[in-house]
Amino acid sequence: MSQRKEIKRLNRILDKVKAHKEEMRALSNEALIGKTAEFKERLASGETLDDILPEAFAAVCEADYRILGKFPYDVQIMGGIAVHEGNLIEMNTGEGKTLMATMPLYLNALTGKSTLLLTTNEYLAIRDAEEMGQVYRFMGLTVGTGAKEKSEEHFTNDEKRAIYASDIVYTTHGAFGFDYLLNNLVTSAEDRFMRELYFVIIDEADSVLLDASQMPLVISGAPRVQSNLYELADFFVTTLVEGRDYEKEDQKVWFTEEGIAYTERFFRIDNFYGEEFFEINRHVTLALRAHVLFEPEKDYVVSKDHELQLLDNGSGRMMPGVKLRGGQHQALEVKEKLELSQENRSVAAITYQNLFLLFPKMSGMSGTLYDAAEELQDVYGLKVIVIPPNRPLMRKDLKDLYYKDIEKQFTTAYKHIVDIHATGQPVLVVVSTIAETEMVSRLLLKGKIPHNVLNANNAFWEAEIIKEAGQMHAVTVATAMAGRGTDIKLGEGVKELGGLAVIGIGRMANIRQERQARGRSGRQGDPGFSRFFVSLQDEIVKRYGRIDTEKYEDGERYISKRRLRNVINASQRTGEEFAVSSRKQAMDYDKVMQKQRELVYATRDSLMDGEALLDHDKVVEIASGNIKRFLAENKYVDRSMLTRYVLDNISYRLDDELQDLDLTNKKEIVEY
Ligand code: ADP
Repeated sequence: MSQRKEIKRLNRILDKVKAHKEEMRALSNEALIGKTAEFKERLASGETLDDILPEAFAAVCEADYRILGKFPYDVQIMGGIAVHEGNLIEMNTGEGKTLMATMPLYLNALTGKSTLLLTTNEYLAIRDAEEMGQVYRFMGLTVGTGAKEKSEEHFTNDEKRAIYASDIVYTTHGAFGFDYLLNNLVTSAEDRFMRELYFVIIDEADSVLLDASQMPLVISGAPRVQSNLYELADFFVTTLVEGRDYEKEDQKVWFTEEGIAYTERFFRIDNFYGEEFFEINRHVTLALRAHVLFEPEKDYVVSKDHELQLLDNGSGRMMPGVKLRGGQHQALEVKEKLELSQENRSVAAITYQNLFLLFPKMSGMSGTLYDAAEELQDVYGLKVIVIPPNRPLMRKDLKDLYYKDIEKQFTTAYKHIVDIHATGQPVLVVVSTIAETEMVSRLLLKGKIPHNVLNANNAFWEAEIIKEAGQMHAVTVATAMAGRGTDIKLGEGVKELGGLAVIGIGRMANIRQERQARGRSGRQGDPGFSRFFVSLQDEIVKRYGRIDTEKYEDGERYISKRRLRNVINASQRTGEEFAVSSRKQAMDYDKVMQKQRELVYATRDSLMDGEALLDHDKVVEIASGNIKRFLAENKYVDRSMLTRYVLDNISYRLDDELQDLDLTNKKEIVEY
């Protein structure tokens, strides 16, 4: 169905909702509250959610008005309907997605099944649960918040059970994901805390469903024996020379023949790829990747308390609790001379992609979804519907300015900022990386222009700071996703000055990020403008541009304006195509894992509920199959390998018998 038809269709349902407006307005508070019980009864006696939608929505609208003083606009009601139907809706920042969500959340919670709203950060979850929670409580429903201000603090299982038992729960994507995994790691039925999943609204849906979709949430289990090879490998890698010892392309790095020979001499081994030297190979490879492929301030930061924190690629958002697997995290820690964190084996993991596919009914909202509509339909089977703005958009998106080199790009952008700032008009400067926020900040400091910098280092307060970006004289420098989704209201007198100016520096990873940046300005019919300054030296061109940029940078070779524009814009398209196909691949790859996870979790559940008992013979059969495989894979088993195997797979209690086993006799080992 075309967007136009969708809107027409939603309009017809909107009319039905509005038809109940006066009737709800006339009700006393008690009578309005009484609607909740009435709706539940009607559902119980066979009516569907769609049947009661017009009245239920009208009731919440009235409650929103009585409790918060805000009656949802028509477009918010339309958005609410589309969300209830399980669509992804595009609604610009400032259109009021928070209030909009009260309608579908209330309606779906009437079923008594789990109803969740997931936000990108703790701040929003806590704030929205508190504010919107007043409406639900008024209507007789319970509300829970599953996020804590400090993401490293955790609720107990009992607390979690109480939270997830609430009719409506606000929490973050991350907290929910970890809870899902933990809920499936409990060892007895009473310890479970999550209800069966039903309805979810994902806030900033494109950032989660696309940009962070491949990010695995990992629960770590028993520690591995810490290796002492990290430091040696790290030192060794610093002696290597690119081009001679190794080659690098895109996000890959590999040893040259010469590099391999050098490694073998250094470690005094005769075959770098020999099975017996696997650990050396692994550590050297990890160290090389740590040095060549991971850039500080771009891929990770070192926090004030000397911890390595990963950054969400492209956005500059920190990912607390997320660690690279397979020793890569430790290799980076050594590179940065930090204390090594324990290398753990992962006991449970899931990607966001698969996490959300677990919901029978999933929906989402964001200011930027339409550009990725096809992929979202493909991967998640969800439709994107663009809800028109409440007031017509007045913001002017000015033509991009193109430059050959980064100096010209930054100095011109800087001059622009200075000129705008001189008039009192607030400026929001949006860049791609943390390093760039600092570059801009240095320029501004030199020019003695007071400003705020928003990057991943202060995630919780991002939203609080960015809210102030619309005040007169304010200058705010931020990465594309810092405080994403936070509404920037204009301060007094700013409208007259032309609203918020958005200055983008650099072609970003995709169009969505740029639209997200522009969308900070021009909320609810406010004036404003946006302009991007891009150059041949932007990261995206270096990565994906089919051009040798260096030749042009120093003016050695001429490049036409048109070609300059084409090269830069094509790089962005290529980058995005790469991203799409890599997400698709990851999804296909993960399908098998997902099936397995579902089966294992279902079996665990039925075991804990006492529905099924694994019979003894079956256990022995599985175990002996596993042991035989282990022995077949390892021709020579020594005592320490066997001990490790028993500890990892069977029991922490070792007995003396193991010491006396004849290791050449495989049958004896299997029997033991
Ligand atoms: P979004 O998440 O879509 O960017 P918010 O939910 O943050 O937008 O809402 C933006 C602002 O508009 C908030 O201050 C909110 O209180 C206000 N708002 C939203 N809907 C209404 C409404 N129907 N009437 C009045 N104010 C509203």
